[in-house]
Amino acid sequence: MTVLRARVLTPESPTVVHWFEDAIVVVEHGRITHVGPFDGRPIDEDLRPGVLTPGFVDSHVHYPQTRIVGAASGPLLDWLAKSTFPEEARFADLAHAEQVARVFAAKLAASGTTLAFAYGPVFAGATDALLTEFARTGQRAIVGPVLMDTNCPPDLVVPGTVALEALDELAAKWHGHEDRLFVAAIPRFALSCTPAIMRGAADLARRRDLWVSTHLSENLAECAATTAMFGTDDYLRVYEDAGLLESKSLFAHCLHLSDSEWERFATADAVVAHCPDSNAFLGSGNLPLATVLERGIPLTVGTDVAAGRSFRVARTLSHAYDNALATGRPTMTTELLWWGTCGGARALGFESVGMLAPGYEADMVLWEVPPWAETAEAVLGALLFDGDLPSPRATWVRGHRVFSR
Ligand SMILES: [Zn+2]
Repeated sequence: MTVLRARVLTPESPTVVHWFEDAIVVVEHGRITHVGPFDGRPIDEDLRPGVLTPGFVDSHVHYPQTRIVGAASGPLLDWLAKSTFPEEARFADLAHAEQVARVFAAKLAASGTTLAFAYGPVFAGATDALLTEFARTGQRAIVGPVLMDTNCPPDLVVPGTVALEALDELAAKWHGHEDRLFVAAIPRFALSCTPAIMRGAADLARRRDLWVSTHLSENLAECAATTAMFGTDDYLRVYEDAGLLESKSLFAHCLHLSDSEWERFATADAVVAHCPDSNAFLGSGNLPLATVLERGIPLTVGTDVAAGRSFRVARTLSHAYDNALATGRPTMTTELLWWGTCGGARALGFESVGMLAPGYEADMVLWEVPPWAETAEAVLGALLFDGDLPSPRATWVRGHRVFSR
């Protein structure tokens, strides 16, 4: 048992947060068993004036793009060709993959991210290297290699039968590891996939109960090229026809969907990965937030590194605030915190992650906020919008410290 004393900020719902100026948090076997005002009991560690929050959830991040943050070569299709594909090809070299895996895992932990949905490169060995690193560090993640079997540089093409067999092997090895590492089926995006590999991915996901994820309707040129290539009346139909539109399907971006596409998306109970920093950096557009929320579609947020410029989910949430204002559906800070923590975790099926409350897993981050931030509102404002806030002082997953400085 560990008894921590700290200032504590935790969401309870999209509209309610709890603030403790002086609290104790008790952790037993990786779970929180008590959170309440300091009551004089003996403590193991005094973390004040640091502020403990739940760990953050990054629902869309690319591990092989760790080294190209800041490659300003957008919009999307140019950025992929000039900056992204050449770097991802280097992951055929396992030594390179292992080195970047260590950096990537460390960057997530140092940013306060305790659950990440990470896209790997096409190479299963490189993805295995990242899962191996997460197994070692104790971090929590959903990971998969991207599947690409057409319309991309030859050194990134992996034929469907080879790629799906390798994915099946990865799933057999890692899916459900310590109930914190999971494998996903990730056809990268329609343009680089044949119908056969997408259908194969959907079948494998169903058979092994994997998450499916892909990019959807990010950029107008991409949308036009997709419907032309597949001869469909809209983009979502391509994934629907392949069996990829399910409740355990996570779609990144979703910027230019029609009413009909949103309708089918909502009916399937699929999940949005909102990537507003990336959308701004590549000039892709805005997410129609009101549409998503009015239809009750589960919302998560993704940094989308390296089209996103920071591993910090808080930075993404700051951009989500801007996106909300720009699309006429302003958002509250409590709502932003919810999407970035508990709301994001629940949308991904993690029911006991994202809150500092009894029964929840002790996925936590310790922040240093300005000394004048003494209310929930001020602390939340600093966490989300103060671009000069120092990086976290420490990060825990399941009560195990995965980062400290
Ligand atoms: Zn992406």
